Amino acid sequence: MYLPKIRELKEAITALIKGPYTHPFPKLPTPVPDNLRAAPKYFKDYCIGCGACGEVCPARAIKVEDITSNGKPIRRLTCDYANCIFCGECHLNCTTEKGIQLTPEYELSYFEEKEALEIIEHELVLCEICGGVIAPKSQLLHLYEKLGTIAYSNPTIYLTKMEEFQLIDESARQEDRQIDRWDMVRVTCPTCRRNILLKEEWG
Ligand code: SF4
Ligand code: SF4
Repeated sequence: MYLPKIRELKEAITALIKGPYTHPFPKLPTPVPDNLRAAPKYFKDYCIGCGACGEVCPARAIKVEDITSNGKPIRRLTCDYANCIFCGECHLNCTTEKGIQLTPEYELSYFEEKEALEIIEHELVLCEICGGVIAPKSQLLHLYEKLGTIAYSNPTIYLTKMEEFQLIDESARQEDRQIDRWDMVRVTCPTCRRNILLKEEWG
């Protein structure tokens, strides 16, 4: 017959008095180390919607979409925890360094798939001439702050900043219209700006 060793008896008596050695999961969450890297989370105050996190994600867990929602053009970034491997590349390569950050949250079980999605949305700025996507408004405002006075060399950036003065002319957006020199001072995409410059130079 197997007889318990003294050490095992001691452990058993200690456990009876002090409680089990193991964590009481799932009754209570398992404590995690302070520097644990787990589920990434977007921070609205710092994210500018540039989409760099989606470009560098090795697991393709972040989807970047330019869509229309409630009649407004928006950029939607969706991080799918079902694909995320907690590598941290999105945080390391974030343009603002704080737009997406890893949290200690690692217990990711949900009843519905949509609960595993971390979503952030940004208003998009469209070209006043062709209606194409230029960038999220928050990204252009970020550039305005970064560039300082140099931002005034780019009408798209400084007019976005001055939007409250209603300098953006929505009525200028017409398909197939002829561009002219006044379009230089409009919110335009790179292609339309190039066409305006060529027209001005070569007619
Ligand atoms: S600011 Fe950072 S988190 Fe936001 S879209 Fe750009 S890279 Fe991603
Ligand atoms: S932690 Fe890694 S896998 Fe997860 S979203 Fe960021 S880059 Fe993608």
